[in-house]
Amino acid sequence: MNEISVTLPDGSSRRVPAGTTPGEVAAAISPRLAKAALAAEVDGRLVDLRYPIDRDARVRVITADSPEGLHVYRHSTAHLLAAAVTQLFPGAQCGIGPATDEGFFYDFVVDRPFVPEDLEAIEQKMKELASQDLPYERQMWNRDEAMQFFASRGEPLKVQLIEEKTAGQPEVSCYTIRDRDTFVDFCVGPHVSTSGRLKAFKLLNTSNAYWKGDAKNQPMQRIYGTAFFSEKDLQAHLQRIEEARKRDHRRVGRDVGLFTFHPWAPGATFWLGKGTTLYNTLANYMREVLFPAGYVELKTPLVYNKGLWETSGHWQHYRENMFLVEGRDGEEMGVKAMNCPGHMLVFGSEMRSYRDLPLRFHEQTPLHRNEASGVLTGLTRVRQFSQDDAHCFVTEEQIASEVEALLRLVQRVYGDFGLSYEAKLSTRPEEFLGEVATWDHAEAALKEALQSAGQAYTVNEGDGAFYGPKIDFDITDAIGRKWQCATIQLDYQMPQRFGLRYIGADNAEHTPIVIHRAIFGSFERFIALLIEHYAGAFPLWLAPLQVTVLPIADRHAEYARAVAGRLEAAGLRVDVDERQEKINLKIREAQLQKVPYMLVAGDREAAEGTVAVRHRATGDLGTRTVAEFIEQAAREVSARGAVSAPAAVAG
Ligand SMILES: [Zn+2]
Ligand SMILES: [Zn+2]
Repeated sequence: MNEISVTLPDGSSRRVPAGTTPGEVAAAISPRLAKAALAAEVDGRLVDLRYPIDRDARVRVITADSPEGLHVYRHSTAHLLAAAVTQLFPGAQCGIGPATDEGFFYDFVVDRPFVPEDLEAIEQKMKELASQDLPYERQMWNRDEAMQFFASRGEPLKVQLIEEKTAGQPEVSCYTIRDRDTFVDFCVGPHVSTSGRLKAFKLLNTSNAYWKGDAKNQPMQRIYGTAFFSEKDLQAHLQRIEEARKRDHRRVGRDVGLFTFHPWAPGATFWLGKGTTLYNTLANYMREVLFPAGYVELKTPLVYNKGLWETSGHWQHYRENMFLVEGRDGEEMGVKAMNCPGHMLVFGSEMRSYRDLPLRFHEQTPLHRNEASGVLTGLTRVRQFSQDDAHCFVTEEQIASEVEALLRLVQRVYGDFGLSYEAKLSTRPEEFLGEVATWDHAEAALKEALQSAGQAYTVNEGDGAFYGPKIDFDITDAIGRKWQCATIQLDYQMPQRFGLRYIGADNAEHTPIVIHRAIFGSFERFIALLIEHYAGAFPLWLAPLQVTVLPIADRHAEYARAVAGRLEAAGLRVDVDERQEKINLKIREAQLQKVPYMLVAGDREAAEGTVAVRHRATGDLGTRTVAEFIEQAAREVSARGAVSAPAAVAG
């Protein structure tokens, strides 16, 4: 018999008969590996464990520990879902069913939308099919016959997929579960070898979908599910989903009255009283940080002639994302989607000398991007937003020190919010503008800055922008999700496009380099992060309403107002709940509104000039004089993130 050689990831190789499968290779290595094997990679291609290896090859067995393992497992679960649906809903047509980062989905054409009871029945059917340990089998079918087969079964979408994806191929890859009557799908695989491998899955919800995601196409019903290797991991994930749902900024924002939306202004936020206070607190905090660091705040125009966007290059490359407007005389104009081009004009508005550099422009005015309506989500994907945006104009020699100063700013700001984060350095991409030597110098300067600022980082090779390298920051929130926020990007190109110059110490003209940077990123997104991180229970310095004074009876209202007046004079944000309601109800409502402090005022307090202090997380703190409370609150406000841990979410 013909022998071939398979090379394993550790470099060792062994001789096996031609036609040996990766499953057999795994079994020859160890029974444990054979049991853990899900699929395999043969010469860089993912295949089933039953794939016959017919020539010398590199073979890697995919298990739960491999990066691809969960993906194969979830995609196999999507097939199981489709099998269950076609059995329970005869006539249902199958679309596509990929694995995702969070689980999997499958799209179907059905007579009516799925209801929750359907999901229960489908999941039950999936469990039944899994318990029967049915084989997933790959079959190569003659292409024309496959198309005829799916056409005769009333599955025109599969016929269309085969037509588009396999043009010119005589055979196409189909997978059955047990046999083609149980389930068959056109798919390249790979999948697990039997349904019994699928141990822990859950269907989550349904949504409307369209064939190929295009609203002009056939409407479909999408079923989302998730799958894990163990019931324990599945349960932990479901708990995280539940926790995320409780913290969802859209829900919390509505419950505590921060903002609202209206269909007539899609993707643009209506900030309500408390939300505006929060927004302004952040805006002013950023000013407080930036002014001593040498920044100048600008307010530049919102609408510009297209000439500006042509010079910046956005007209050529970014126009479909911009709101275009027409001036009175037919002038073509664009609403600003970023501040940089305007800042270039400000730099160029005066003769600059090297003594003026670094020159740091900060701006918080609104930006507009014409995002597709389908992607708009709460505060995280919007059309109107503001950034804590700045552009630092520097000389080549100043890059390292300026970036170090920026890194220290990021560290300070995230520290004030008690947020943990990671830094990533992205280097020269395949396609780039400028000289390699300039890039090398810039990357070295960034590394030097990271080092001096004591900032740990990872490197994303080749992930920089075409105009310069960058450093990005990912914040990890209280439930472990990552949010990309701060960015520091070097740019050699834009100052050149705008012909910017400064007079150097050598009396000659030079082009400055600009550093685009933001620390919050957009205020909208950062507020979404804060809401979800703190679950709406903002630390005292950020809470839109910091204190509520609760008179026990009408006769205590005047004293309560006097207390509130003193707190206000001390700079605290305070209100008085004078409603004729029971004190316990007032406390409960303030608690739901996540107000940090409740000060209860009754006969004794009014007589003694004190308040009974309650904290939303720790409850009754005892009686204090008003002056004592003010002093304690002031200390807590100035400590910012240093004292305020995110509170647990109740209910
Ligand atoms: Zn598949
Ligand atoms: Zn910029």
